[in-house]
Amino acid sequence: MSEEQFGERGSNQQWAPDKLIEYPAVFVWPPNPLGLMRYILAVPGYIFPWHLAYAVMGVLVWLYLTPPMETMQSFAISWVAYIFARNIVMITVIYGATHLWLYTFKRQGTEFKYNGRWPAKGSGVFLFKSQHVDNLIWTYLSGVPIWTAFEVVTLWLFANGYIPYISFEEHPFYFIALFALVPLWRELHFYLIHRLIHARALYQLVHKTHHNNVNPGPFSGLSMHPIEHLLYFSCIAVHWIVPSHPVHMFFNLMHAGYSPLAGHAGFYKFKIGKNRYMDATGYLHYLHHKFFECNYGGGSIPFDKWFGTFHDGSKEAELRMKARLRERGKQLAEQRAKRAQAKSN
Ligand SMILES: [Zn+2]
Ligand SMILES: [Zn+2]
Repeated sequence: MSEEQFGERGSNQQWAPDKLIEYPAVFVWPPNPLGLMRYILAVPGYIFPWHLAYAVMGVLVWLYLTPPMETMQSFAISWVAYIFARNIVMITVIYGATHLWLYTFKRQGTEFKYNGRWPAKGSGVFLFKSQHVDNLIWTYLSGVPIWTAFEVVTLWLFANGYIPYISFEEHPFYFIALFALVPLWRELHFYLIHRLIHARALYQLVHKTHHNNVNPGPFSGLSMHPIEHLLYFSCIAVHWIVPSHPVHMFFNLMHAGYSPLAGHAGFYKFKIGKNRYMDATGYLHYLHHKFFECNYGGGSIPFDKWFGTFHDGSKEAELRMKARLRERGKQLAEQRAKRAQAKSN
């Protein structure tokens, strides 16, 4: 298997797949039950492999890497520090191994890498002029503390019965349905906060930190300004209102914490053995990093299609996006001119 079979590398070293991005037959009219089932069971699809991986991680972290509920009824340095340390270790192992494999040892070379160049060194937009150092600083000094804070507060609320709790034994169908809905909730929440931080003022102040990564790597995924981390991990606050079990919260948290890895690794496929590859699902978001003003959402709910910002990777989509930006630029210029006129009158 080679990248030439799946796409083309242009003269600018950018590789693009031949297969254009398509939304699955989930939110379509008339309903398409067969297409829906295909999406649910396909590989890659709604369950396999990524969502199942985050769900299994959530269950394991809850069962084996979280203190007992009685311990978490009152805040104590010991268990809070344990959760903080566990998050640091897990991120370091999972993100670090991927980074070492793909970017330090370059075990796959640039095969299936969207951008044929390696991340910038010496660029002034990054802290200490290094994308990697910059990404590590934002991830560990802002991302992990804010992630841990949401996790610790939610566990404390659960432990004290301050938020609604349900068990599998009492509500098995609701329990399973909620599990199945976690990825859709993540998409809805991410789309909303992402559109918010693309508003002009917030973009410059907040979201630019993340978008400096035009050639993202694994650690770019959680490289965000603290305000973006606060908004991003606020997806956990849904458990403060909607009746759920801590294991749902952990699935939600593992999804938020680890899905940016596949989304920012910068590769279309990961090589996992001799001539064996695994789909990375990050092309939609790679295009967002490349073009900024498209694909604000994820791959299941077609928000971008509904609101005219979808880029499927084609030349036509690029032209549509440029026309949309020109039109918006014109409208802004007209509004500015009108305001100036009103002032002078
Ligand atoms: Zn963005
Ligand atoms: Zn991103």
